[in-house]
Amino acid sequence: MYTTSPEALGDLFIDEPRYRTDQLVEWLYTHPVLSADDMLNLPKSMRKQISEDHWPFVLDMEQSADNGLTKKWLLRCTDGSAIEAVLMGYPTRTTLCISSQVGCAMGCTFCATGQFGFDRHLDAGEIVAQVAYANAYLSESPLPRSPERVTNVVFMGMGEPLANYDNTIESIRRMTGLMGISARSITVSTVGFVPGMRKLIDEPWPLNLAVSLHSTIPSERSKLVPINDRYPIDDVIAAAKDYYDTKGRRVSLEWTLIAGENDSDEEAIGLAKLARKIHAHVNVIALNPTPMSSDLPPSNDHIRRFLGTLRREGANVTLRDTRGKDIDAACGQLRLRADTR
Ligand code: SAH
Ligand code: SF4
Repeated sequence: MYTTSPEALGDLFIDEPRYRTDQLVEWLYTHPVLSADDMLNLPKSMRKQISEDHWPFVLDMEQSADNGLTKKWLLRCTDGSAIEAVLMGYPTRTTLCISSQVGCAMGCTFCATGQFGFDRHLDAGEIVAQVAYANAYLSESPLPRSPERVTNVVFMGMGEPLANYDNTIESIRRMTGLMGISARSITVSTVGFVPGMRKLIDEPWPLNLAVSLHSTIPSERSKLVPINDRYPIDDVIAAAKDYYDTKGRRVSLEWTLIAGENDSDEEAIGLAKLARKIHAHVNVIALNPTPMSSDLPPSNDHIRRFLGTLRREGANVTLRDTRGKDIDAACGQLRLRADTR
């Protein structure tokens, strides 16, 4: 269903009256439900066809953490591929972290998805259906003391969204146009895929852009983020600066802190300098160890020291909480577990 664009939904049911398109848009996007059986004003035959031929994925595994404020889902697509989405409740927002690809071709050494390799792109429908699933889930089981609909979306699950550009954009068009999500509450996170960053500047929406930097020293960054050889850090920063200058939206620089790799004073000073230059906000997150790498996060003392240096050097910094640490919430980890169980 979601694979078909909202405008063309009627074409799937040519014998039905035209108003069915509006009803379908309502059930798929405005007030999503967990099962086609709940689409009460549609004829039974249609509901059956929807659930048999057109349902985007089934829930394969659900995990809960942080006293019910974090839910992590492994969703199984119709071709058997597994993707992850993570729902996080906060007092003023409910944030969904979504996947844009099955696997990822960028091969970052510390990332479970990168270690897995690239399988395929998700289509726009499979991307947006993760949001619909979350809204359907929330309508039945809201998270404690959090908004009962998805208010924020971050493209920080599996995959590199800007390497799957058209599908990412089409999914955003539907989220903003049909699902009541403000573009200002959507964050596209990129490893620094420069052609996509450049195209995003020309899109009409004031989206948030997060750039996963991880090192400011080119040779070090190439070790952690191999795509740095193709899109070097200077080009990434130039594109981020243009994004800020054109959109007036503060870019965030993401930094996964890995003991002995990118946690030195030199890195902190270099990062603060870059952040000041392009008016960026820095988000530091401690590495969530993955099974296929021996990398570890620094000690808490060392993390504090790194943050202290950044602040002293004039950077705006947030230490991102590691929601769902105990449920393998870092990108790609639940799937690794599922496929080896
Ligand atoms: N491909 C995009 C978006 C998905 S990854 C990107 O790289 O930005 C989303 C974020 O999760 C990135 O900032 C990435 O560096 C981070 N990440 C990946 N694996 C991690 C791990 N094991 N521990 C902590 N953060 C991780
Ligand atoms: Fe891909 Fe992002 Fe993981 Fe790197 S961190 S491998 S770009 S998903």
